[in-house]
Amino acid sequence: MTGPRPQIAQPATTSVPLLEARGLTKHFPVRRTRLTPRGAVVHAVDDVSIALPAGGVTAIVGESGSGKSTLAKLLARLIKPTAGKLLLDGNDIPSASLVRRAYARQVQLVLQDPFSSLNPVHDVRYHLTRPLKVHRLAGSGAALDESVAGLLERVALQPAGQFADKYPHELSGGQRQRVAIARALAVQPRILLADEPVSMLDVSIRLGVLNLLADLRERDGLAILYVTHDIASARYLADTIAVMYAGQIIESGPADSVTEQPAHPYTQLLLSAAPDPDRAAAPVLRGSGAPPNLVTPPTGCRFHPRCPHAMRICADTAPAMTEVAAGQVSACWLHAGDLDPAQRTPLREET
Ligand code: SF4
Repeated sequence: MTGPRPQIAQPATTSVPLLEARGLTKHFPVRRTRLTPRGAVVHAVDDVSIALPAGGVTAIVGESGSGKSTLAKLLARLIKPTAGKLLLDGNDIPSASLVRRAYARQVQLVLQDPFSSLNPVHDVRYHLTRPLKVHRLAGSGAALDESVAGLLERVALQPAGQFADKYPHELSGGQRQRVAIARALAVQPRILLADEPVSMLDVSIRLGVLNLLADLRERDGLAILYVTHDIASARYLADTIAVMYAGQIIESGPADSVTEQPAHPYTQLLLSAAPDPDRAAAPVLRGSGAPPNLVTPPTGCRFHPRCPHAMRICADTAPAMTEVAAGQVSACWLHAGDLDPAQRTPLREET
């Protein structure tokens, strides 16, 4: 990601985050075959806790299949967790459908694909007025036109009259994603969950959409979750980065710390695969292999089959989160100072 990082004020420090997940877990049942045992599940998200403060951007970074999009859907309450809970303003959320609608007003999800998220048979005006009508926020006539114009202005699609009557196929990918963001803003949410919002856009227009998200949090104090596989864009936009691997958060902390002093070998691997001209060279990790099968995740540290630093203990026992710098935590046995030599024995010889 190139271009100067947006100058963003520190998020408002309130003791209670707008949205908090505690121990969120999602296991999907697997269709039974000859090869899968009875009761097998995919461990998509396991025991994830995360807090989204007002006026803050939190990035969830990980490879495809790491569970980050499932986490976004859990936070949006589009799917039910297997375990764990969500707190809105520090309060438990009942599950009644009326409450579900009220929750959708507070928490909106923007999807990765602006091509499929907008129905091609309807124009922009329809897409922006529908949520207003569903949530009974719409006026009529001139008031509705004013709402549409205001939403288009918030996402820098001006003049509004030029865009309101267009159909999705008449817009560029970046403009479509801006309409999708405007639609999410229509219900005046306090929390925006953006699931890979720029990954399907041309590189040349990604920066504009990221800067729009930065503006929204700065100007309107939204809490934003930015889900991405691209750690460079996370560093550009977010003030906090949480790195996910195989359904678990394995490192998190201030974006600058996590990207300049990555503590976990997997974060180092992500950084070495995403060269950033603004950053001093990251240690190149000779990590290899593919993400694990989450029906039978590896024992101990889930990264151990790929980790060149893996020790005997790593295959048996999952490491706990350890604070490695101010506000930065990492789950890795390399940070434990009190292992005996037998536990430190390399799991495999260097090749
Ligand atoms: Fe590698 Fe062990 Fe740390 Fe896991 S706990 S990342 S296997 S050194």
